[in-house]
Amino acid sequence: MTIRTVGVIGAGTMGNGIAQVFAATGHDVVMCDVSEQAVKRGVDAIAKSLDRLLAKQKIAQADRDATLGRVRGATELGACAEADIVVEAATENEPLKLKIFGDLDRIAKPAAILASNTSSISLTRIAAATRRPSQVIGMHFMNPVPVMQLVEIIRALQTSDEVYRVVETLSRKLGKTPVSVKNSPGFVSNRVLLPMINEAVYTLHEGLATPEDIDTVMKLGMNHPMGPLALADLIGLDTCLSIMEVLYAGFKDSKYRPCPLLREMVDAGYLGRKSGRGFYDYSKQ
Ligand code: NAD
Repeated sequence: MTIRTVGVIGAGTMGNGIAQVFAATGHDVVMCDVSEQAVKRGVDAIAKSLDRLLAKQKIAQADRDATLGRVRGATELGACAEADIVVEAATENEPLKLKIFGDLDRIAKPAAILASNTSSISLTRIAAATRRPSQVIGMHFMNPVPVMQLVEIIRALQTSDEVYRVVETLSRKLGKTPVSVKNSPGFVSNRVLLPMINEAVYTLHEGLATPEDIDTVMKLGMNHPMGPLALADLIGLDTCLSIMEVLYAGFKDSKYRPCPLLREMVDAGYLGRKSGRGFYDYSKQ
């Protein structure tokens, strides 16, 4: 199966990055979000990211223009009717994703693959929300998508070998390194990463050290390129909280309880970089 046209659902942090890497590798992309404003923010983010690459002379002006020219914005899922694959990167919320997959199943052409970029939600349940469960798969990109090498490919119980192979080949074509993971809460990446971030939030909650010092411990002490609190701000604190809730609900183990401070931050609308404030202040950037 040849993938030419790609639908991306969600134009946020991940959606616009995913749209950019598909467009940069020659695919025609339709990027859908709920409002014109959200779509515009996504397209603007792609333009800004390409401009950075241009300024660093990593791409030529013609590549920048051609990549941007291959991305079309839309506010209706119906725009994905011709897509060979749709990659869903909407908000991390299970009822929302199940609804989107039910709708996509009706809209997308019968042969189309439906992929989700979910960080933690069961692909088996997402697949079961469609009448094409063997064509549903997890394609878990990392943030920032144009920079990060990894794609975790998550097989639902129902995913066919053929669909897995198509998505594995596609991931390599995007310049990524795919890793195969079975369906389980948080998969491998977030099963390991999020409890560490949550524990860092607990150390802040308990007043053990400042955010800067907690991050410095992990950067200089453990050789992490970024501290866990700065990384949480990059991921989005709402996304971090949702993932912890999925781990907690999935394993019924108290070691996955979300830190109350993380919940407080989300309730306050302090979502990290995307809202201008999280554990750090981004309002002047
Ligand atoms: P985000 O909040 O930046 O963007 C989500 C976008 O989805 C928003 O623009 C929102 O308007 C849109 N949306 C909501 N409902 C929609 C609908 N019905 N149709 C179309 N668009 C809709 O979130 P994000 O960080 O981009 O996360 C998206 C997905 O990617 C989540 O499943 C998340 O778990 C996953 N993910 C996030 C990261 C990360 O670091 N942020 C990394 C890997 C995977």
